[in-house]
Amino acid sequence: MPDLPRSFSPSSAGTYRQCPRRWRFRYVQKLPDPPGEPALLGTFAHRVLELLCGDPAPERTIDRARELARQVWPETAESLDFQALQLDDASQRDFRWRAWTAIQGLWSLEDPAAVEVRATEQKVSANLDGVPFFGIVDRLDADAGGLVITDYKSGRPPRPGDHDSVLSQVLLYAAAIESDSGERPARARLLYLGKEIVEAEVTAERLATTGGDLADTWSDLGRDCDADEFTTRPGPLCGWCPYVAVCEDGGAEVRRRVREGRMRADAPARTALGI
Ligand code: SF4
Repeated sequence: MPDLPRSFSPSSAGTYRQCPRRWRFRYVQKLPDPPGEPALLGTFAHRVLELLCGDPAPERTIDRARELARQVWPETAESLDFQALQLDDASQRDFRWRAWTAIQGLWSLEDPAAVEVRATEQKVSANLDGVPFFGIVDRLDADAGGLVITDYKSGRPPRPGDHDSVLSQVLLYAAAIESDSGERPARARLLYLGKEIVEAEVTAERLATTGGDLADTWSDLGRDCDADEFTTRPGPLCGWCPYVAVCEDGGAEVRRRVREGRMRADAPARTALGI
């Protein structure tokens, strides 16, 4: 019977909500979940922006970001995860161009030289409604209204109907900061680099809703751990699940979708299943 984890991050909660069996593969069986190209691109862009925002405010310029990107690139290029992608020269150039487009996209959303940065990559942990929550905040800022939680995203922005759901991550960070310091942040925001800002005022009601959802997920996870029964939740995301080759239901789902023409040609599961 698996034990409940000692800490519960937004990413772990998200994996469990998406598919309990996927959570078990990753967090109990600890099967490898290598980051794909989008995740590595996001990590590279995050690292450059973290270093940029650690510099004094007037020095946070695009030229400085370009210099940092050149400095950080070898870390990414030499990592085993990046090498496992086996990108040829043209694909590596494309990766760098897309990463740079994301980094540069910060300036279309804000002027980083005008931001009062309090911390970057700030670890936060707190007991939230009985859940041992843990997370890492990309950036903690201050403005006239108070503390601002900021998280960078290099992917596509969500549809307006999904804003509440995607904001839960930064609202949980806000709840943890309030629990730890007694100060409630004023705003929580997601910066979709080069695209748009999705944000919310941090209110008692929003914190209660988000904390309640996390507690419900934790409770469901406890039930599954007790019974050691983690259901599969087959769907379109099986096409991107690293465990599809060892998951009967997921494999069947992908095959069905391929037959019906409902699976993208670039879904990694096609390669994993040889279809
Ligand atoms: S392949 Fe699909 S059903 Fe199987 S673990 Fe992954 S997400 Fe869940």
